[in-house]
Amino acid sequence: MVTGASSGIGAATARRLAAEGFDVVVGARRLDRLHEVADPIGARALPLDVCDADSVTAFCEAVGGCRVLVNNAGGALGLDPVESADDDQWRQMYEANVLGVVRVTRGLLPRLEASGDGHIVVIGSVAGLEPYPGGAGYNAAKHGVRAVRQVLRYELLGRPVRVSEIDPGMVETEFSVVRFGGDRERAAAVYAGTTPLTADDVADCVAWVVTRPSHVNVDQLVVLPRDQASATRVHRRTP
Ligand code: NAP
Repeated sequence: MVTGASSGIGAATARRLAAEGFDVVVGARRLDRLHEVADPIGARALPLDVCDADSVTAFCEAVGGCRVLVNNAGGALGLDPVESADDDQWRQMYEANVLGVVRVTRGLLPRLEASGDGHIVVIGSVAGLEPYPGGAGYNAAKHGVRAVRQVLRYELLGRPVRVSEIDPGMVETEFSVVRFGGDRERAAAVYAGTTPLTADDVADCVAWVVTRPSHVNVDQLVVLPRDQASATRVHRRTP
């Protein structure tokens, strides 16, 4: 089960898990894009808005069994300082990145546990480890989901469900285009002069984490491009 699989990391993860032999189910809001990912790999595509409780309930009910849940849906909106922060953007980021993970995880937990070897993976971010100017709303959301992941790990201890977090640095996907409201030039500048991670690089991490033996729980995996040493320390080559 991969949420937010209509583009970027989620799409790459769905493809990679299908190649690893998993029976993949994907969810997202843009069904046309979701089918472009799902159909060629024989995955099942279901509509899903993680910000809408009814949508999450319908999604979870449509799923049969579930052994691995990859909570990937989310992203950032804007790069505004706190003094001019937009409440709606903060609310949307918290809804998708934090409550979305809570809703889908809660909905699928009985199936994950019943599988006898369940695994919940959360796609966090370097933004959840290190705040940066302008990042506050996204930083707060990714710090929030990190706390949820840690709490889940404690609460599920002794039950057959693993909990893992993967925290990527810069990955070139539609993430920055969405963050900057469709401004592709501003989005491209984020990666200028660097070699960022690709969505496949992160999918590779997901695949590794979920194919360890059942007694091995990778709690947290931080993965950055060589050109990035922290959220704000980025090496850029000049042309
Ligand atoms: P992306 O290409 O913009 O993909 C985001 C995905 O999330 C899309 O498939 C989108 O699908 C889905 N999504 C967003 N809101 C949703 C909602 N309410 N319900 C269901 N699906 C929703 O960006 P990405 O880089 O692959 O991002 C994937 C995850 O990685 C996010 O959690 C992001 O915060 C995290 N991350 C990204 C980076 C980076 O640099 N790219 C770094 C660290 C962490 P629909 O719009 O079709 O619903």
